[in-house]
Amino acid sequence: MSVIKELVFTPTCLACGLLGAHLCGTCELELNPFIGKPLQNVSAIFCASKYEGWIREKLIEFKNGRAQNVPALAAALTVAFDFANFTNSYTLVPIPSASEKIMERGFDSISILGKEVSKRVESAPELTAALFLKSQVRDQVGLTAAERKVNMAQAFGIRQKLDGDIVLIDDVITTGATMSSAARILRIAGAQRVFGIALCGSPKSR
Ligand SMILES: [Zn+2]
Repeated sequence: MSVIKELVFTPTCLACGLLGAHLCGTCELELNPFIGKPLQNVSAIFCASKYEGWIREKLIEFKNGRAQNVPALAAALTVAFDFANFTNSYTLVPIPSASEKIMERGFDSISILGKEVSKRVESAPELTAALFLKSQVRDQVGLTAAERKVNMAQAFGIRQKLDGDIVLIDDVITTGATMSSAARILRIAGAQRVFGIALCGSPKSR
């Protein structure tokens, strides 16, 4: 390959700009995965990073429509999977986005992150869009923790029966109301245990 072509096709680190990978080894090592605050219906929560720094900035860009950020964000999410070190097999289920958001962005953010992650995680778990979001759910921004809980209580619908362990994936866990509500319906649908993996947990979920 010519030098020019190599430069064009070689990825750069989304965090520091270093040539060679979507997320360089140094920036990956700087992520500080942690166990999130316990939530009802969820066996354990694992977050790749606090909601701060480059990951916060690049996640906001991604949610505003910048699909190029997917490989690096998926690499960061994979760090949380390595940290969780699941020993049993499981199915991945993305937290669904509201259809207006998908239209705005041009893609379903958690679903495409999930697809990329399922390719990166060693056990290559199956990804299933088991959940859907009911239309009456309000945007969570600006709601108090109590309002979020009420808002999310009946938010999700389920498309299929489940068994075994489920790993729910989301971008940011704030109060945990979304994940807890999603886990509840997955349990009702037959999931044995539900775990949560998120790119970021806000300090509240620490
Ligand atoms: Zn880097």
